[in-house]
Amino acid sequence: MSHNAESTAFRSALEVIRAVEPRVADAISAELADQRESLKLIASENYASPATLLAMGNWFSDKYAEGTVGRRFYAGCQNVDTVEALAAEHARELFGAAHAYVQPHSGIDANLVAFWAILADRVESPALKKAQKRHVNDLTEADWFALRRELGDQRMLGMSLDAGGHLTHGFRPNISGKMFDQRSYGTDPATGLIDYDKVAEAAREFRPLILVAGYSAYPRKVNFRIMREIADSVGATFMVDMAHFAGLVAGKVFTGDFDPVPHAHIVTTTTHKSLRGPRGGMVLCGPELADQVDRGCPMVLGGPLPHVMAAKAVALAEARRPDFADYASRIVDNAQALADGLLRRGASLVTGGTDNHLVLIDVSGYGLTGRQAEQALLDSGIVTNRNAVPQDPNGAWYTSGIRIGTPALTTRGLGAAEMDATAELIHTVLDRTTAGTGPDGAASKAKYVLDPAVAESVGKQAADLLTPFPLYPEVTLG
Ligand code: PLP
Repeated sequence: MSHNAESTAFRSALEVIRAVEPRVADAISAELADQRESLKLIASENYASPATLLAMGNWFSDKYAEGTVGRRFYAGCQNVDTVEALAAEHARELFGAAHAYVQPHSGIDANLVAFWAILADRVESPALKKAQKRHVNDLTEADWFALRRELGDQRMLGMSLDAGGHLTHGFRPNISGKMFDQRSYGTDPATGLIDYDKVAEAAREFRPLILVAGYSAYPRKVNFRIMREIADSVGATFMVDMAHFAGLVAGKVFTGDFDPVPHAHIVTTTTHKSLRGPRGGMVLCGPELADQVDRGCPMVLGGPLPHVMAAKAVALAEARRPDFADYASRIVDNAQALADGLLRRGASLVTGGTDNHLVLIDVSGYGLTGRQAEQALLDSGIVTNRNAVPQDPNGAWYTSGIRIGTPALTTRGLGAAEMDATAELIHTVLDRTTAGTGPDGAASKAKYVLDPAVAESVGKQAADLLTPFPLYPEVTLG
């Protein structure tokens, strides 16, 4: 029996892996089966193309390539140069950026590269100059103390975690919170929207070195022109982390004031969320910061991942095609259809809706915590994640919110009708779930009660919803 190229490629790869460690081959096959069966509404996930996935599974993985294109610390990097230059070129063209640095291994790395580039650009620090010239492992304790002394009190203003900001924007559990003196801006308690006057006020009071915009759980557009004006008014460097919505920028859904690239001094992103590439990060900037950004390795990063840069080049080439713009606008149409469907059924949504790829349900209206809701939905075949809502009384662990996003289901081809059906399934589960009690009879934030028959019926309907939209239809593993 003959197979198409994708099936042949993945089947052959599995056969080769199976000969060495069959349990890994089985886990890879099982992962595809699980992903095919689940209604994936995780806002930060997607399904990369077979070409993107295959670009990662090869001998580029074996290569060390510290340095930049044409200036490596290792010999024999000519082919790595080719893919890194291609990925950077596609990124520059796609986003209209003067410079692209495609080495960061992840979003957190991209942010660290950006922070150090800004520090090096803005702060006179002999210790930093020394650190940039040496490998991290070669720095002594005294060097680190000097760095801390000279850089330790720099300020960052970013969006608060409970308003939808990200850990890497200066919060304690992340290294950024230890590097910077951080303060955050939230959202208006009545509307849930960013209040730009309040951001300006906070900036005037705090006078940050860096103003950060960007989010993981804010369901609206951000006006980057206004944010840049605020940054300029206090002499801050304006950084945008577009990890979540890079696909909407690439697909020209976010343009003008809502496109961060022309407004920010520096833009960071992941490549694996709405952009639909391999797991990784990227930094875009103008010529002023380019040299400092290119010092990301070895300042923050070890050797780049050439196989992932190859996959970034493939995915970015895909994102430059006209059909990606159509995909990006369908992501938002779907999120709005999902939001409308939930609102019509009585759900309460943070900001009352969405104009990007994500929706944040305040599940306290159903008498549940985010944790209870997340588990009940999972029992019913619907994969989401719990998330804090602004001023969340249940904190970041239990939360009062469920974050849902449409990039993945849109890749599968689901549209507005299926979003409405999805809203019905989500509402049914949340409506039929009640908060449980602990062994002592006290109210629990984790335990919940959901009739297994309801979970089973919703699970079956969720599976039926997916049947006409097979995931990776071009791949049959046998
Ligand atoms: N920035 C934002 C806004 C994110 O949402 C995330 C991940 O969720 C990151 C950065 C970190 O990305 P990574 O998990 O690739 O390090």
